[in-house]
Amino acid sequence: MRELPVTRLSGIPPTIFGEMSALAAATGAINLGQGFPDEDGPAAVLARAAEALGNGANQYPPPFGIPALRRAVADHQFRHYGIELDPDSQVLVTTGATEAVAAAMLALVEPGDEVVVFEPYYDSYAAMIRMSGGVRRTVTLAAPGFRLDVDALRAAITPRTRVLLLNTPHNPTGTVLDQDELAAIATVAVEHDLVIVSDEVYEHLTFGAAHVPIATLPGMAERTVTISSLGKSYSLTGWKVGWATGPERLVRAVHSAKQWLTYVSGAPLQPAAAFALDELPDWPAGLAVELRRKRDLLCAGLASAGLRPSVPQGTYFAMTDVAVLGWDDGDAFCRELPHRAGVVAIPVRGFYDSDAGRTLVRWAFCKRDAVLTEATDRLAAADLRPGRPARP
Ligand code: PMP
Ligand code: GLN
Repeated sequence: MRELPVTRLSGIPPTIFGEMSALAAATGAINLGQGFPDEDGPAAVLARAAEALGNGANQYPPPFGIPALRRAVADHQFRHYGIELDPDSQVLVTTGATEAVAAAMLALVEPGDEVVVFEPYYDSYAAMIRMSGGVRRTVTLAAPGFRLDVDALRAAITPRTRVLLLNTPHNPTGTVLDQDELAAIATVAVEHDLVIVSDEVYEHLTFGAAHVPIATLPGMAERTVTISSLGKSYSLTGWKVGWATGPERLVRAVHSAKQWLTYVSGAPLQPAAAFALDELPDWPAGLAVELRRKRDLLCAGLASAGLRPSVPQGTYFAMTDVAVLGWDDGDAFCRELPHRAGVVAIPVRGFYDSDAGRTLVRWAFCKRDAVLTEATDRLAAADLRPGRPARP
């Protein structure tokens, strides 16, 4: 049989998240790998979706999304950030933030264009840059602080750079870019006439550090596509309702690709998403308070197990370096961990082009307290050093 023509994706490994969830299921381990909460979002939102299913919201919705959701997204951007958007021309509903990122890359990147991303990068970015024919250039957020090195950003820009694919709050490091970092990025973007694609899915899940959308900085609105989704803010990660917002010309460009990916996004979830944004605008802030406590619980537990977590300012995740336990490969550590301790975590070395992530491991804390406590008790009780036998 002929070899399959996967040239566009050669060198891009399959997504690690599904693989590690499968490992957790196969071994019965506690899954602190893939980032999804183990408690569902607001019951009123679930009820609204069920109602929409029963009330005929089951055929193709309009290409840019139902008017109520486009208006709710525009209102959300204004309520939280003072960003004014025309719901009819500046908001596009997508199938999760994932599709918004995919469509943005396909629409805005020409073959050979360079796209700058921070590493560790979210895995779909690498795949989508590749599928667009773009070339990835990375800027390392160096452990343990994971802050932006502005000189490294400048050094990554070339005459071929077209897009800066930003993510703040940042998965997997938990870094929330501050005003100075954002201002430096904005300066670089103007100097080199870059388009910014800003993935802000964790916008509400911050723990004291304010999330600032880069589109609010001077000169940025006209060159930024801002992306978010319902999944993280409302603990509905399986819903895959997302959106891209920005100037009409960029949103139209993103739509030009989106229409060929999915044409439109799931109809019955859109009224429920609009309901969540309109009627429960404070729900995500309550979730962030809960998550902050869970972050502290997990980080204390990791510290007791001999790991030294970098305490994140946002997201679902904390990072550790398993070199402190003697490991020289985080991937090997994570594959062994369910057998040693009955816990699953995510190795992030695959989210780096450089070697800087070789021993870094990510842990999710979007779980019930009892689950976090049980997981960290297991870690503390296990022998986590390399070359030890699996638990009896
Ligand atoms: N971007 C980042 C940084 C993420 O962590 C995730 C994870 N869920 C996504 C995008 C995807 O979001 P969605 O489920 O809305 O597609
Ligand atoms: N965003 C989730 C994470 O980082 C995973 C989503 C996915 O599996 N693609 O864990």
